[in-house]
Amino acid sequence: MTTPSTIFRSLLDGLKGVARASAALVALAAAGVSPAMAAPSDSGSLAPWSEGIFDIHHVSTGRGNATFFVFPDGTTMLIDAGEGDPEFAKRVQPLKPFPPVPDGASSAGYWIADYVRQFAPPGRPAKLDYALITHFHTDHYGTITPDKPMSRTGAYRLAGITEVAETIPVGTLIDRAGPDYQYPVDLRNCTRSGAISGSSGLSLANYLSFADYRLKHGQAVVGLKPGALDQIKLEKAAAFPSFHIRNIASSGIIWTGARDETHHYIPEGAVTACDFDENPFSNVLTFAYGRFKYYSGGDLPGVPHYNQPWWRDVETPVSAVVGPVDVMMLDHHGNRDTVNENILRNLAPRVMVQQNWLSPQPGEDVVVRMASKGLYPGPRDVFSTGMAPETRTAIGPIMDSIYKSYNGHVVIRVAPGGDQYDVYILNDADKRREVVKHFGPYQSK
Ligand SMILES: [Zn+2]
Repeated sequence: MTTPSTIFRSLLDGLKGVARASAALVALAAAGVSPAMAAPSDSGSLAPWSEGIFDIHHVSTGRGNATFFVFPDGTTMLIDAGEGDPEFAKRVQPLKPFPPVPDGASSAGYWIADYVRQFAPPGRPAKLDYALITHFHTDHYGTITPDKPMSRTGAYRLAGITEVAETIPVGTLIDRAGPDYQYPVDLRNCTRSGAISGSSGLSLANYLSFADYRLKHGQAVVGLKPGALDQIKLEKAAAFPSFHIRNIASSGIIWTGARDETHHYIPEGAVTACDFDENPFSNVLTFAYGRFKYYSGGDLPGVPHYNQPWWRDVETPVSAVVGPVDVMMLDHHGNRDTVNENILRNLAPRVMVQQNWLSPQPGEDVVVRMASKGLYPGPRDVFSTGMAPETRTAIGPIMDSIYKSYNGHVVIRVAPGGDQYDVYILNDADKRREVVKHFGPYQSK
């Protein structure tokens, strides 16, 4: 909802941006750097994408994850289209629900589709060449309840990814288990037998109906092939030879770092029941453009609880083959069971982006680790799509020392060739989505 408090928060953040800009300009002048190189605050609309630019949009809905990519040749991709179950959110956070943005009157799927239409390459019909679901949790692909509208196909209901796909054509649908959905257990059987309860079971059954409808009608549905380079590729790949997408992990099978070889990190047979946790099975990918590299790991965990098996730490073996990146999307919304010491040491991100939708995100320990210069040297900036005020109050000044922005769509715009990139924060309180802050340029590693 657009409330006076959210407007005030935006204004306040805007003013802070101006103050930071003035301070930065003084510092830059002292350092002999041209202010035109690094104006931390802009306004107006984000300049339209043009050929050569690589855009990564972290879409703020307050209800789950959605990242929209425009590759340098205009090929497009969406990772996740989440809308978490509001009943679940109420159960875990009964006193103060996290606010949906820009409002709760329309679904997350509606807003994600609207966002994609606004920032898709201009001058051609909006489409998603690829849509990838990291794992089967509803804050990543949409919650189905019996009152959700039916697709015009009559084959499934609309929420999250199915709702986006209803109005924006999807070329290839990628998930972690398609097209047979047998790993680590028979997921179709799990939904048919009722072994997954409530909206989780309904949502997965609905997604499988969506995938089946696509398969029946000649629309691609594939599983992410761990270790592969360029399973996801540019339409005009030859024009941008330094752009590559590497599949790092899927369903607990991880790239070894050599050729396209993989190993079963989560032992086969480790999971046999339908009610297993999807998080360690998340799809993990890196996107490279020249010197620039971006990491996306879904809800991959890295800090096992005391009663959990060793393989719940998937971040450590993943980070060993990913190596240094420029921008890291925080795993599992920055939850306390994630962003462990090893992934921070190995990735050493200059910029981190957090898509969060609950008060315990980020965990306090996560912030302490992210801020630690003992784990890796140098500056680091963190950007959140939406932070609960109680989280800031509880975690305190250490948070302000690394977070540069606490709400809004977070756009990483990589310059042609990949040598540098900028971070733009777009207002998420209305559908104009104007730039409220700008950071950079950052030099790629
Ligand atoms: Zn999640």
